[in-house]
Amino acid sequence: MPKPLPGELTFAAPRGAKPPRHLADLTATERREVVAELGEKPFRADQLSRQYFSRLSAGPDEWTDIPAASRAKLAEGLLPELMTVVRNVSCDDDSTRKTLWKLFDGVLVESVLMRYPDRVTMCISSQAGCGMNCPFCATGQAGLTRNLSTAEIVEQIAAGMRSIKAGEFGADASGEAGAVRLSNVVFMGMGEPLANYKRVIAAIRRLTDPAPGGFGLSQRGITVSTVGLVPAINRLADEELSVRLAVSLHAPDDELRDTLVPVNTRWRVAEVLDAAWDYAERSGRRISIEYALIKDINDQAWRADLLGRLLKNHRAHVNLIPLNPTPGSKWTASRPEDEREFVRQLKLHGVPVTVRDTRGQEIDGACGQLAAAG
Ligand code: SAH
Repeated sequence: MPKPLPGELTFAAPRGAKPPRHLADLTATERREVVAELGEKPFRADQLSRQYFSRLSAGPDEWTDIPAASRAKLAEGLLPELMTVVRNVSCDDDSTRKTLWKLFDGVLVESVLMRYPDRVTMCISSQAGCGMNCPFCATGQAGLTRNLSTAEIVEQIAAGMRSIKAGEFGADASGEAGAVRLSNVVFMGMGEPLANYKRVIAAIRRLTDPAPGGFGLSQRGITVSTVGLVPAINRLADEELSVRLAVSLHAPDDELRDTLVPVNTRWRVAEVLDAAWDYAERSGRRISIEYALIKDINDQAWRADLLGRLLKNHRAHVNLIPLNPTPGSKWTASRPEDEREFVRQLKLHGVPVTVRDTRGQEIDGACGQLAAAG
């Protein structure tokens, strides 16, 4: 994968061999059709779906409700192994764990599990690499390798849930291993989710459809983060989901945003925010505005003031992210006093703001650090 030139954008992912078909790629109806093609009774599709989505079964040996003779055929036809763990790395007292996955074609992606006192959040990848080329993001610097299939997206979460269930990811407050639940999913790993639109939407359906169609997670616990692909934001609004939309703004003015988020040369700050307000209106959810604070680049008080003016009286919340270091980047996080002033300026406009923790930083697992180097 050649390194992209500064500002170069890649929307269409290179085509290659397709990942094997998997249960999680299919709707409930399609699953029944495939099961019938395999020569099995259609209701086996629901049994299989329950095993995968509800019981988080690890394999055919556990499918005691399915005749032994059918298990291998169903497993082969609908539950091929999509990815294997290359390695897990943990930090923050084992409450953050990054997994490096190898896909069927040797491509590498990463996901991150984060345990909080009241919830577990998983940060997942939607593409291998990314075509949006933001200069401060390690994934963007590597270019786009390919889109992930729906099932490759879903399987990251299934694997996270299985791992939690097996007690590998800590106990809950009562001390019971495996009792914590994965409730939040953020599309903030590798890739631009709205550039892999159809598969990401299908994955959201699998995550949120009730059993046996999917995991039955709440749509409200899911966040889709985007650089600001306006037509895709509008399309997302048409889906009538109540997932949260996060917009990676990083600058309130087009001049600076053109360099920090190159897709801004296609859709300007005002257009992106208009699409976001429309999404907020239709979904009933507040927009998360993501803003990585970069020392002496985008952290001036006047930019905070301008940002405050753009956002005030809208349904928005600002998430300030202290810049995480990435290889080869000359940029660093803002000084604490500049960060404080930035927050103060936003508050003067009545705009809600939080500073995101730097979870995962020491294992290169924090925002913008996922590069999936073997
Ligand atoms: N492509 C999507 C999804 C990635 S989300 C998007 O850009 O929104 C990852 C978030 O981390 C984005 O807001 C991204 O801009 C931010 N980010 C990237 N590199 C970062 C870095 N080095 N430090 C802090 N945040 C970073």
